[in-house]
Amino acid sequence: MPDRVTLPNASDVVVIGGGIMGASTAFFLSAQTDLDVTLIEKDGIATGSTGNSSAILRHHYGDQAIYSKMAWWSHQFYRDFEEETGEVIAHVDNPLVRFGQEQTEPGEYAEAGYDTLRSLDIPTTRFESDELSDQYPMIEDVESFDFGISDDTAGFSDGADAANGFARAAQQNGATVVTGVGAETLIVEEDSVVGVKTEAGNVDCETVVVAAGPWTPRLAEKVGVDIPITTTREQVLILEPPEGYKDEYPSLLPTTAQPGGDWYIRPDFGDGILVATHHTDEEVNPDRYDNNPDEEMILELTEHLSGMIPTLGDAGLRGQYCGVYSSTPDHDFILDQAGPEGCYFACGFSGHGFKHGPAVGRIMTDLVVEGTTDMVDAGFFSLDRFEESDYGHGRTADDI
Ligand SMILES: Cc1cc2nc3c(=O)[nH]c(=O)nc-3n(C[C@H](O)[C@H](O)[C@H](O)COP(=O)(O)OP(=O)(O)OC[C@H]3O[C@@H](n4cnc5c(N)ncnc54)[C@H](O)[C@@H]3O)c2cc1C
Repeated sequence: MPDRVTLPNASDVVVIGGGIMGASTAFFLSAQTDLDVTLIEKDGIATGSTGNSSAILRHHYGDQAIYSKMAWWSHQFYRDFEEETGEVIAHVDNPLVRFGQEQTEPGEYAEAGYDTLRSLDIPTTRFESDELSDQYPMIEDVESFDFGISDDTAGFSDGADAANGFARAAQQNGATVVTGVGAETLIVEEDSVVGVKTEAGNVDCETVVVAAGPWTPRLAEKVGVDIPITTTREQVLILEPPEGYKDEYPSLLPTTAQPGGDWYIRPDFGDGILVATHHTDEEVNPDRYDNNPDEEMILELTEHLSGMIPTLGDAGLRGQYCGVYSSTPDHDFILDQAGPEGCYFACGFSGHGFKHGPAVGRIMTDLVVEGTTDMVDAGFFSLDRFEESDYGHGRTADDI
């Protein structure tokens, strides 16, 4: 049996958190630099939000081209994951559609995304009202919408697969991945990081990337950094379509949501159907939350679904679980150096982080090595936007 991986005494960089963001960062650091990299995870890889992620890979973000570009780049990476990392992950193509009415807020958002995707050459199609029932025959009264904007090459993957794939590939590149060890605090001398104190001893290092999901504020406050994120519980059901449904609708259904609604649907692996809440605003402690959806919510979600696709009124319940979003006030990410020198944060990914996992790993690597990145305008993700306003950019970006 191979020896258990032990914590090194020293490393050039320590990444805290083995979710998609920490694992991706460890991968890019180990693939693109000669730095010694150690990834520390308090439980197992992908045991935080990532393991519960619906992992939808879409590119439509209204008029926010910055996210569309990152999502597109990341999606190509997920598609080519085996070539890029040597690891295999699940990936399913499934277009995402936003139905809309003209001159409504969700409709304008959908149309703005159409224009943005076209300007970026990302495949998208606008279906007019009279084309919708041919395209989406399973959806009740679909022709009552003015249009549908299809994000043609959207898809979905699996959070645990991807984070584990990144962590294994980082190991192959020479990184040390230690699970079951929690970081207790960063060790700071003269306003610079000099190490990480863990339950299993200290690691000397001059650079730390904190990618600890909803637990990030706890580590941050120990070094005097205020990370404004709240942790909310989301509820997920996996349904079994009734007999004959799959024969009638081989693609099952598009990934979609009721315009402006706080729930969404997508097919699941093995011909299931996933329906989930989005931004319940139910604040919870990430260490202690009820992992079973509430009875009333099960009823509400199944009613929403059968209102949209009546045949699925007879769907059986195959599985259920809950997960947490960790959201900034504007739902935009924090990718920044803050606090003592050598201390970086990648957090606040809300309900839309997974699809950007590869881009975030690359951006954090650029920030650590170069202090800047050519991938995006990293200033958009700076923490100090909350010094100017508690609401940061002041609007939210993560309609599904
Ligand atoms: C139900 C649900 C559905 C979602 N659906 C989508 C979707 O369809 N598409 C999409 O793009 N995004 C989606 N998301 C959002 C996405 O999953 C998250 O944004 C992303 O997984 C966040 O990853 P992370 O690495 O930042 O955090 P996490 O996955 O939470 O990882 C943080 C890790 O840090 C570890 N950790 C914490 N503290 C310490 C410490 N002190 N020492 C060591 N380790 C520590 C934790 O154990 C954890 O493993 C969804 C999320 C949920 C919950």
